[in-house]
Amino acid sequence: MTAIREPGKINPDTTLIDFGFSDVLGVGGVYLIESGKSCLIDSGTTTGAPRIIKKLKELNAFPPDYILLTHSHWDHCQGVPLLREKAMKEQKSVQVLASEVAIPLLADQSFNEVFHAKERFQNIQDVGSLKEGDTVDLDGILLKIYSTPGHSKDQISILDEKNKNLFVGDTFGMKVANNAFLSSIMPPFCNKDDFTSTIQKLKQIDYDSISLAHFGLIYDNEARSILDEAQTIFNQTWQIFETAEQNNQLDDMKYVYQLIMQEIKPTIPEFELQKTSMRIILKGINGFRRIVRK
Ligand SMILES: [Zn+2]
Repeated sequence: MTAIREPGKINPDTTLIDFGFSDVLGVGGVYLIESGKSCLIDSGTTTGAPRIIKKLKELNAFPPDYILLTHSHWDHCQGVPLLREKAMKEQKSVQVLASEVAIPLLADQSFNEVFHAKERFQNIQDVGSLKEGDTVDLDGILLKIYSTPGHSKDQISILDEKNKNLFVGDTFGMKVANNAFLSSIMPPFCNKDDFTSTIQKLKQIDYDSISLAHFGLIYDNEARSILDEAQTIFNQTWQIFETAEQNNQLDDMKYVYQLIMQEIKPTIPEFELQKTSMRIILKGINGFRRIVRK
């Protein structure tokens, strides 16, 4: 076992909260870090936010001092409006921070329409700007910011220097079980060269564990080997999409999905998870299409 995929404490200062992405458990998580100050890594979705607020209240940690967004995709930031609103009702405030690249994308969330999600997207203003090398001081834990584009251009990773835990958001894609790794190719800002540079950059960082937005904590040797694994999955998926494009089969999404299941063989455990994973692969195909047909 080199992964924790149950909600709860993942190290002495950090709690994994499952926000129930598309009402499926074990797929979407946010992380609460508690020191002198507290920080939530990502905010989940509009429909997931009530679950997060309930859990934070149980932990006596609502509202957190900070919400730090790994990137501006809707499933990471659309919980912010409700979290802010509930905090305001208690005459409290929460400071939202994100990459400087994310700021305009948060202020205009319309690009998320490519996901055809059931939720409506609210624009998010008043966000503090972070860049590579910045730190966020939680009074006992220092969080260091790394720019890690590829999955999206505004993606950052956040190193908890005390616990040597690296929050990567969607940098790698989705790994919901040992043998269920899906690539991070997603619309509308995925970039292959950036992804490859990011993997090389992460190799230089001194960390012991990795926290994935989708989903859980990876530790021991796997925390290192996941870098090459992520690159392999990305390349294989890209190749499948490229071949399908050359054969004019990219519009047959079911066919491309079958190809991924055959070639990469992700073993996705439960029925609901399978539906979610299929949706994610289809979004990936769409993302690729947008990139190559630009
Ligand atoms: Zn994302």
